[in-house]
Amino acid sequence: MIQPALRPLARSLDPLPGESLAGFLLRLSYRMGSTPHRLATLCGLTCRSDSIPQEQLRGLNPVAAEQLARAAHLTMSEVRALTLQDLTRTYPPLVRLRTDKADIGSKSHINWATNPDSRYCPHCLRGNGSPAQQAFGGAWQLRWHLPITFACTQHSCLLESTCPQCAQPLSGRVIRRYSLVQIPHVSGLHPGQCRNRAPGHIPKPRARAVPCGARLDAPRHAASALSPLDMQRVLDLQHNLNLRLEPGQTHRTADKEAPTPTFPT
Ligand SMILES: [Zn+2]
Ligand SMILES: [Zn+2]
Repeated sequence: MIQPALRPLARSLDPLPGESLAGFLLRLSYRMGSTPHRLATLCGLTCRSDSIPQEQLRGLNPVAAEQLARAAHLTMSEVRALTLQDLTRTYPPLVRLRTDKADIGSKSHINWATNPDSRYCPHCLRGNGSPAQQAFGGAWQLRWHLPITFACTQHSCLLESTCPQCAQPLSGRVIRRYSLVQIPHVSGLHPGQCRNRAPGHIPKPRARAVPCGARLDAPRHAASALSPLDMQRVLDLQHNLNLRLEPGQTHRTADKEAPTPTFPT
């Protein structure tokens, strides 16, 4: 059956640098006062009744990419940048994943190349103070799904992996599958709020899930577990890894390795 052409949305948002597809859906649905599930449907993404399959983060097939571009007023390169597809050139483990199918089964989750849970930097989520980021928050970064991304070099901190209130990972897990967005039928949550189910809350049949709702973008004052010197080493390592992930780098870098450092005797 031929799908009817999707209509462009009445309004959209410019994607932020490095933003993930999930983050874009969170910000735009918040702006539109819609649920992420409804927005994803309007944008032509694959949706199940209870989830928006997370495999779409790895890449969209050409038809889905065109539909999203048309509906959300994006260019094809902006759509592509919301997925991990561009990183396949500089992050070889992604090449082995099939990135063009929306539904590729549970085996796709058994892979260390990407992390279905997202780490996060509270400062990045708070945004840079621009009007758009003040209103809708900063970007959920695509790279926070990579196991090799563990620190924010801009804010000199380790990434967080759990919510400060419910202590759960930021995961879109729905039974054994993963969704781009947790509890996608709930609207009105700021993109910087935790969408995990509220701990201890037993939902009534057919009732909407109750989210934790804690702000993930609030400042943290916990002392770092690392000494300043160790922290600097971690940040230097992350900085070098980030450079390797930049477009234009290639993973065949054996002939471009930095010279072996020499230490004073
Ligand atoms: Zn940050
Ligand atoms: Zn929470």
